[in-house]
Amino acid sequence: MSETGRIRVFSGMRPTGLLHLGHLAGALTNWVALQEDHDCFYGIVDWHALMSNYAESENTGSLCLDVLLDWLSVGLDPNKSCIFIQSHVPQHVELFLALSMVTPLGWLYRNPTYKEQIENIQNKDLSTFAFLGYPVLMAADILLYRAEKVPVGEDQSAHMELSRELVRRFNHFFGAGLLPEPQTILTPTPKVPGTDGRKMSKSYNNSLYISESAESMWDKLKVMITDPARERRTDPGEPNKCPVWDIHKVFNHDAAQRAEIEKGCRSAGIGCIDCKKMLNAHIAEMMAPIHERRAKYASDPGALNDILRDGARRAEAVARSTMRDIYPAMGLIVRSDRVA
Ligand code: ADP
Repeated sequence: MSETGRIRVFSGMRPTGLLHLGHLAGALTNWVALQEDHDCFYGIVDWHALMSNYAESENTGSLCLDVLLDWLSVGLDPNKSCIFIQSHVPQHVELFLALSMVTPLGWLYRNPTYKEQIENIQNKDLSTFAFLGYPVLMAADILLYRAEKVPVGEDQSAHMELSRELVRRFNHFFGAGLLPEPQTILTPTPKVPGTDGRKMSKSYNNSLYISESAESMWDKLKVMITDPARERRTDPGEPNKCPVWDIHKVFNHDAAQRAEIEKGCRSAGIGCIDCKKMLNAHIAEMMAPIHERRAKYASDPGALNDILRDGARRAEAVARSTMRDIYPAMGLIVRSDRVA
């Protein structure tokens, strides 16, 4: 709980590319809602990006700015949330090291995300100390702010469990109640499929990006895969086998129209292009104010700098106060000008 009596929330995203409609539905919409009645800290976690992209790190800074613009454009508000870049708050690295003192290697080697990525990612050498320690840095991100709630997708559940186990072990060595166990807020949105029907992901080249123009979005939507059994306009289709329908369910809030589409698809009363046009209209309407906000912020680099500087200052104030408790608990001397 923060001084304002609001529940403290932390979440982060890696600066690895432009954000897409999957990020919007699966995370950002919830983040925007949370900032109304929670004390939210949202970090652009650039150290985490380097853990897998260290060999091509030169664009990390500009990718941070892309993420910042995407966040602001969808409605994250620096007056309501603390928005910052992870590496601007050095205590993330300090707490990462402090936690790593008591992190058993077995926990990290057993982490299912680690095993899966080591097996599947062939084009990068991920057999590094830092990559193995990815969940320890994630735990540090959360615990530095003593966040009680962490909105994440299901893919992060194992990391969250590891964070909680780490808190218990850390508190066992250094003091009961020193760090709180963070709870997960699972965003109940189904996976948003990409244009090829697989999960929308920038690594599959199948994404509809938040910053993408309406024209370019339509170019992708009109060739998007549909129910593969519906080969001709006159064939009836099955919405439950169609990824375009899955996107309708997330972004088309007109229930009457959705019912018509379902009926029209199954009776071949409407064609796939008709259905896609309706979806495109909903997305374009939703995106218009988002693009307007993005253009406004993109034209004002000074404002972006101010947001990042203020965010880092606010985050660091909280981070310092946590480290002030951690140092003596671990038997270290707190720097004298940081005692109070
Ligand atoms: P990171 O920023 O750690 O690389 P991802 O790019 O995998 O993470 O996505 C961050 C979060 O966005 C995920 O945890 C998930 O909640 C959400 N997300 C990403 N892609 C999709 C998708 N296609 N459908 C729904 N949610 C998604």
